[in-house]
Amino acid sequence: MDIYLAPLRFYNTLLLQNLITELSKRFSAKIRVIDLDINLDDFFSIDRKQYFSTQIIAEAIKLTDNIDGKVIMLTDVDIFVPVLTFIFGEAQLNGKHALLSVCRLHEEFYSGISNDNLLLERTIKEFLHELGHCYGLRHCIDWDCVMHSSPGIEEVDIKGSSFCRNCISKIEGYKY
Ligand SMILES: [Zn+2]
Ligand SMILES: [Zn+2]
Repeated sequence: MDIYLAPLRFYNTLLLQNLITELSKRFSAKIRVIDLDINLDDFFSIDRKQYFSTQIIAEAIKLTDNIDGKVIMLTDVDIFVPVLTFIFGEAQLNGKHALLSVCRLHEEFYSGISNDNLLLERTIKEFLHELGHCYGLRHCIDWDCVMHSSPGIEEVDIKGSSFCRNCISKIEGYKY
């Protein structure tokens, strides 16, 4: 089953390329990039100045019936669900779709100083985390596991960058 990356207002081509390189090492599945015809403006909340993640996923579901694989959308815009201030990502548990925002993975968001390596590391962790949910994984208590919950950037940085032994068994075609 292939893994499809769908950039939506995601303009960092170097980050996308580096992410694909890393995923290609870790998965036996093919990593493909697709273009989804979604206008994010339709999901913008004027009150919150953010984009409604769940609605974006619902729209993606309508457009990807013919795709056999996981569809992970990537965006630079800030996303939310109503009960939370922000989210890094949202996924369908045991489903096909997820959305990941790198907006708050940028170090300049916190310290004002940009750090490309840290951005890549955080992006890989959160990408694997959302993908893990798509493979049916729930949050894991192991801090070395990428499925540990990460409501804030501190937890993203503390947790490991791969799956623990338990979680890894659920991920199809994962090499390490
Ligand atoms: Zn999660
Ligand atoms: Zn785990």
